[in-house]
Amino acid sequence: MNNTINRDSIDLLLHEINKIKYVNYEKTLTLAKETLGVSEKIGYELGIAISKYFLSEAYYNTGNYENSIDLTYYSLDIFIKEGLYDLQCGCYNQLGIIFSELGEYDRSMDFYSKAEETAALIDSNKKFDENSSTKKSMVRTLNNISEIYKFLQDYHEALNYCNTAYEIDKQFDFSFSKGITLLSLGELYYLLEDYDKSTELSYTALKYFNLYNYKIPESDCYKLLALSYWKKSDFIKAEDYFDIALNINKNHSPVFYKIDVLINYFEYLKERGNFNKALNKLKEACILAIKSNMTEKISETSSLLAMFYGELGDYENSYKYSKMHYENEKENLYAFHNHLANNLKIKKRMDEMIVNNENLKSKSDSLQTIIEKISIISELGQEITSTLNLNKIIDILHSSIKNLIDFTYLGIGLYDEKNSTVNYLDVFDDGKKRKKASLSIAEYESFTSRCITNSEFIIVNDMSSEYLNHMDEETYRFKINKKDQELNSLIFCPLIINTKVIGIMSIQSKEKHAFTAYHIEMIKSLSSYASIAINNAIKSSELEKEIEKTHAVQAQLKELNKKLLFLSENDSMTKIPNRRKLDSYLKDIWNRTLESGNRISLVLFDVDYFKEYNDNYGHVEGDRCIVKIAKILSTFENENFFAARYGGDEFIIVLPECSLNKARELCENLQEIVKFKNIPHAYSKVSDKVTLSLGVTSIVPSKNITIKDFIKKADTALYIAKKRGRNQIAIV
Ligand code: GH3
Ligand code: MG
Repeated sequence: MNNTINRDSIDLLLHEINKIKYVNYEKTLTLAKETLGVSEKIGYELGIAISKYFLSEAYYNTGNYENSIDLTYYSLDIFIKEGLYDLQCGCYNQLGIIFSELGEYDRSMDFYSKAEETAALIDSNKKFDENSSTKKSMVRTLNNISEIYKFLQDYHEALNYCNTAYEIDKQFDFSFSKGITLLSLGELYYLLEDYDKSTELSYTALKYFNLYNYKIPESDCYKLLALSYWKKSDFIKAEDYFDIALNINKNHSPVFYKIDVLINYFEYLKERGNFNKALNKLKEACILAIKSNMTEKISETSSLLAMFYGELGDYENSYKYSKMHYENEKENLYAFHNHLANNLKIKKRMDEMIVNNENLKSKSDSLQTIIEKISIISELGQEITSTLNLNKIIDILHSSIKNLIDFTYLGIGLYDEKNSTVNYLDVFDDGKKRKKASLSIAEYESFTSRCITNSEFIIVNDMSSEYLNHMDEETYRFKINKKDQELNSLIFCPLIINTKVIGIMSIQSKEKHAFTAYHIEMIKSLSSYASIAINNAIKSSELEKEIEKTHAVQAQLKELNKKLLFLSENDSMTKIPNRRKLDSYLKDIWNRTLESGNRISLVLFDVDYFKEYNDNYGHVEGDRCIVKIAKILSTFENENFFAARYGGDEFIIVLPECSLNKARELCENLQEIVKFKNIPHAYSKVSDKVTLSLGVTSIVPSKNITIKDFIKKADTALYIAKKRGRNQIAIV
């Protein structure tokens, strides 16, 4: 007795929640949790299921998909048991939405088909909500299917579904969708670039949102108006509507609506050339995303900021936001934006190179006068600057200087400013090439450190008499004189690019007064070329590395695109083609066969008693079974065999240029292999293992028959095979 009272009050509560569930998510969440608690206390199974269903919707609306999926599955089973088709349809739609949100479009479409099937049964059966009806549920499902096509950018197909929903909804003054159908249709016309129709529909949608007191989608609707007016170049109206979209119903709209409006507004302002305001709006969107901890939106906004700053030439901020973006980006998008950041890096480097080359150019212009005087240097300069190989540069320098001057030692060092060291290329010492250790110039005074730090050309003609000008007695005795061979004439020449010292060239001789004024002038001239050659070699190797990195990113991107294409054309669970791929394949082969007059055969088959398999072995095992069947199909693959998952436990095989007899043989073969695989099915009424029922048909395509008719024939054949007792082939 007590239980009945409680059940009734729970039912009342559930109907209350049903009324507010699309209006107030938070309250729905709290109330549904409470109802769930009470239902569990008294063991009221249906109460538990309906509470969980409402919870699942509220969780979805607040972004918690995982909880939502579990709860929906749970309630669906009970609704099936209870024969409540309106709630079943709700669950299928909910699952469809979640899976499309997760990018699993096949699964999503499967659920929407189920939703369509169950919607049809609502009017003639028991229902939970007296206001629910076949037509109402159809409108919701059709709108959902339309959303998927819209997302896949098949706007015409989306329009077909949306128009059907519109026609039904219109009969009931749009009360079924509370005006959403109108907004969806408006969005589609916007995407199809019919902006007049889009605005007209938006205004009507607003009227109905108002009529039904449905506030949540209002800002989205104003956003659409803003976008349409933007496209129609009515900027005053566009601006007004952006403003309204940003400022209305702050309490009603989920935060991502606002972020989306801000992003659109930013794009608008950017196009209008109002960069400051554009930047502010984009930053506002980013801050909002950070505050709400929405990784995806942080990633999106920071990536836009990185790009925008990059375009404005502010590389530092561009880097800052690229970094933020990386941290938030999902792994599969990582490659794409990495590519962007690398592009920025390379662009920056290229800019530097251009600046350098301008300066180098003027330097080489001024060198022209010397070149005229000393033609040898000219040839030499051209030779060393034409190579980007550092070793080759030093070899050329060595052999050419050797022809001009009699020296004992030649060394070229590259200055590493960050570490205050000089890193030597191979040096020539007494005619022999050898390695030389790096030298730290921060530690003590030396000719090298002086030359580099002061950018000073140093010449010593007789070390034994001049050393006191450069160092004290002790240093001289310790450092220089202890060498076997005393070097008396020394030149230290800084290598300069764009007023910056990039290295040092030193030439030394045992002879005293080895270098004449002529030699010195030549060495100075030569050092300019050496600087250019060395700098170009270093920069180009750095750039090469950057480009290598970019290539790696490009390869990653290519790989990613391949993966995406695969994902969109193949069933996520079995990895064999899905219905989308089937549609395009069939259309293609149909048109070709219309021309050639060849025959096509078609097989539609389905696992027998698979529901029982699922019920007894569980869904996971059921999935495995489906994958096994798909694997068998993959082994048949050749250019005249195309198999796809048709949905659930149903598969389809297209056989171009194949006679009916051959098709039947193939089916027998397939049955044999499945039998041989020996997948136990103790709950089948026709065998103790998994078996198939197959429908076969074969035609020569003509203008009088459509692809749909063709599939229908195979479907009829399959139906006959089932009806005759399963585990067999039927031909129509
Ligand atoms: P019949 O012999 O008439 O084909 O009977 P059946 O039990 O196989 O009936 P039907 O083909 O209508 O049932 C298919 C079942 O497959 C119902 C559904 O729960 C289940 N199903 C659909 N998709 C999947 C899936 O991806 N994985 C699993 N495990 N089961 C699925
Ligand atoms: Mg079946």
